[in-house]
Amino acid sequence: MSIAANLSELHDELDRIQVELVAVSKTKSNEEIMEAYETGQRVFGENHVQELVDKYEALPKDIKWHLIGHLQSNKVKYIAPFITLIQSVDSLKLLQEINKQALKNNRVIDCLLQVYIADEDTKFGLGFDEVIDMLRSPEFAELKNVRVTGVMGIATNTDNPKQIREEFYELATFFKGIKQSFFRKEKSFKEISMGMSTDYKIAIEQGSTMVRIGSTVFGKRVIPHFKINKN
Ligand SMILES: *Cc1c(COP(=O)(O)O)cnc(C)c1O
Repeated sequence: MSIAANLSELHDELDRIQVELVAVSKTKSNEEIMEAYETGQRVFGENHVQELVDKYEALPKDIKWHLIGHLQSNKVKYIAPFITLIQSVDSLKLLQEINKQALKNNRVIDCLLQVYIADEDTKFGLGFDEVIDMLRSPEFAELKNVRVTGVMGIATNTDNPKQIREEFYELATFFKGIKQSFFRKEKSFKEISMGMSTDYKIAIEQGSTMVRIGSTVFGKRVIPHFKINKN
């Protein structure tokens, strides 16, 4: 099926339940992204800073770019002027650097805390306790140029739907807990980003508000060998 047909099918399913579709365009060409753009898709996700910056420069400026891959502190400055949402915040140090670069650009940058839910050691993210320690810390309270709007998680890469369901359930439950304890008055704290091509239906059933879908939109990725193991 074409990119347009894939998107149309996904939007039919997602729009009526108000789940946001982030079209994950990593490794895909500007032409493929434009094919999606022309159907009205505006939210795209990338996981490498350099690739994201190149695409930002070449493509229409009303695209809302999300960073979904691991972010090194020294690279925040390249995306701070334009990024819509950084989904992969996995340390206080990174959040402090995002705050600093956001201030330089005179803006507030929306972020999700990436929470570790998978039963694998290769995935980045914060543990539940680390999130709570961070939210309680005086350092966090000082950050005025970042706004935490929710959480993001990646389930274990497994065929076992029961395990995936439990991991998403844990993330959704954790979200509710920290909303109650730390963000009760903040309407903007509302996102649970979970679900990819293979598991988004389970994620939605568990309360996802935002799914990150690549291959089901653009087709399988042919990953250049130098990118393997670099998230
Ligand atoms: C690549 C990627 C996705 C999309 O994966 P698909 O299986 O192609 O849908 C979602 N989230 C993250 C963090 C990714 O790196």
